[in-house]
Amino acid sequence: MSFSLELNEEQRDLRDWLRGFADKVVRPAAAEWDEREETPWPVIQEAAEVGLYGFETLATFWADETGLSLPIANEELFRGDGGIGMSIFGTTLAVAGIFSTGTPDQLAEWVPECYGEVDAPQVAAFCSSEPEAGSDVSAMRTRAVYDEATDEWVLNGQKAWATNGGIANVHVVQAVVDPELGSRGQATFVVPPGTKGLSAPSKIRKHGLRASHTADVFLDDVRVPGRCLLGGKDKLDERLARAREGTKATSQAALRTFELSRPTVGAQAIGIARAAYEHALEYAQQRETFGRPIIDNQSIAFTLADMRTEIDAARLLVWRAAWMGRGEEPFTAGEGSMSKLKAGRVATWVTERAIQILGGNGYTREFPVERMHRDAKIYDIFEGTEQIQQLVVARAISGRHIP
Ligand SMILES: Cc1cc2nc3c(=O)[nH]c(=O)nc-3n(C[C@H](O)[C@H](O)[C@H](O)COP(=O)(O)OP(=O)(O)OC[C@H]3O[C@@H](n4cnc5c(N)ncnc54)[C@H](O)[C@@H]3O)c2cc1C
Repeated sequence: MSFSLELNEEQRDLRDWLRGFADKVVRPAAAEWDEREETPWPVIQEAAEVGLYGFETLATFWADETGLSLPIANEELFRGDGGIGMSIFGTTLAVAGIFSTGTPDQLAEWVPECYGEVDAPQVAAFCSSEPEAGSDVSAMRTRAVYDEATDEWVLNGQKAWATNGGIANVHVVQAVVDPELGSRGQATFVVPPGTKGLSAPSKIRKHGLRASHTADVFLDDVRVPGRCLLGGKDKLDERLARAREGTKATSQAALRTFELSRPTVGAQAIGIARAAYEHALEYAQQRETFGRPIIDNQSIAFTLADMRTEIDAARLLVWRAAWMGRGEEPFTAGEGSMSKLKAGRVATWVTERAIQILGGNGYTREFPVERMHRDAKIYDIFEGTEQIQQLVVARAISGRHIP
């Protein structure tokens, strides 16, 4: 599929649909759910009712051979609000985890459980990080042991900062099955609804994305049926055998999942940045000091010009990476990570500049840019920190194993 910057009719319709939903439903609810620091179930319900929340919709985005539908949808939704956007699209990370390693039967069984029904939507959680294993996935300690007698896997450990952790219907959990193989000895499991031994007693209070639930998840002798191992036991045994022989492993499950999602996550950051930029642009034309709109000062106008330039540059990187990923082009320079690195930095910088342009108002909760700034900062941290993205790009461009 050749790359074009001219959106086709379906992409334009998708953009307008998401933009309308963000303007009419998400944005008006943003301040309330940020203050409440709770999952906005009524908004998720509305998203389900209009067909925005569900696997069919995600499959439609994914079916776009140009790869652009996913970033377009994410940018528009997150332009409405980051926290609510994450509550609606956070489930996608777990679905991507099932998608990347699961069999067609597993997809058919578990993905609908991730979303629930239109009149009773559910969310899902992807649990990879641990207190001692965020950037360093190889330090993972959560253990999965196979009980041959009952054909069950027994999971024990602690997962950290899981989006939707504890409130999810389905938890997709990564665990170590062979500690001697490091990150190559890991596998991914589905923990079905209501499984005993999984708990997430307390929600983590955060700087931003406060409408999105985050919690540590504890696994205490959690028993899941053998069919909950994504990809199945035969495939796992083959993979472990290859790893033991020292054959170059296929990429680790965790890294593969993140690699698939990085441009999409970058698009979320761009959505937040665009919201702040648009707000600042409008404000600068209305707010007068010294008898003229503040935008008539070059320092303000040029800042807005830089903000727009940076947002557009980041979007181009995100679209390129999304197109490459969908077309299975090789990421020879870490282009997926590059796009998220740039988008996160742009979102943090643009939202901070927006506060500056709004002056005192920008610093208050009467105006939305302070919330956008709080929401934006996470994009330098999750799905691989700024430094981890740099590491991926540095290794790719140098061909060296930079530690
Ligand atoms: C709101 C939120 C939602 C999240 N959602 C999820 C989720 O749904 N599922 C999930 O599994 N995880 C989730 N996470 C976890 C997130 O992915 C991790 O926080 C992130 O990967 C960073 O790991 P860490 O916090 O352990 O930082 P650390 O790895 O401890 O890093 C600390 C600092 O050291 C730097 N650093 C680390 N190693 C190196 C190195 N080799 N070279 C240079 N610098 C380095 C980092 O860049 C960072 O600045 C979430 C986190 C938050 C805050």
